[in-house]
Amino acid sequence: MTGGEALYRLQQLDSERDATQDRLREIDAALRDDTRLRRARQALQEQEQEARKWQARQRDLELEIESLADKSARSEARLYGGKVTNPKELTDLEAEIASLQRRRRRLEDQLLEAMIEREGAEDTRDAAQTHLQETESTWSRTQADLRAERTGLEQRLQEIERRRDEVAAHLDPQTLAAYNRLRELKGGQAVARLRADICTVCGVTISASAEWKLRQGELIHCDSCGRIIVSV
Ligand SMILES: [Zn+2]
Repeated sequence: MTGGEALYRLQQLDSERDATQDRLREIDAALRDDTRLRRARQALQEQEQEARKWQARQRDLELEIESLADKSARSEARLYGGKVTNPKELTDLEAEIASLQRRRRRLEDQLLEAMIEREGAEDTRDAAQTHLQETESTWSRTQADLRAERTGLEQRLQEIERRRDEVAAHLDPQTLAAYNRLRELKGGQAVARLRADICTVCGVTISASAEWKLRQGELIHCDSCGRIIVSV
């Protein structure tokens, strides 16, 4: 392996290591992020509460209507029972029955509204339940996929480290130090390939003297971006 090849290979491995570590950080963040799950649970709780509210409202109205009907039936029994004969009392009873019936009709209208609201709230609650189940199952699938990907990437990282050591053994300490310094300065990309006398990272043509040195096996840098130029 020539020095240029070793540098180029080292750069490839380091770039892959950087990308792998970035992806591992993303995976860790995704594994911790249960926002969608918590939102779906919260939405279901709210919809369950709303459905219970309308169920209770419907029950209250039904009981109230039942009690009005009882009262009405008792008054009618007295009105038509024959025991009450006083005309004033009979007129009062009729008025009371009429008033009870009016009140009952109002409550029945309210009951109908409450039933419609209850049905709507129950539908929304059921939809929230389905959404939560789907979210939970997606969540477990995603978590399993991410954990599997994580295991694969960690194994790959070990492999990269091993190969990196092998490749680095082909380079002298000064070259390695120059490479590492440039990696820090140039956003991780210390090495640039040469293609038709052009630095493939910055696109600038290298000088004839630099190209001559490169052919002699010397370590040369791009005049423009400063990266180590390799011809591989
Ligand atoms: Zn360049």
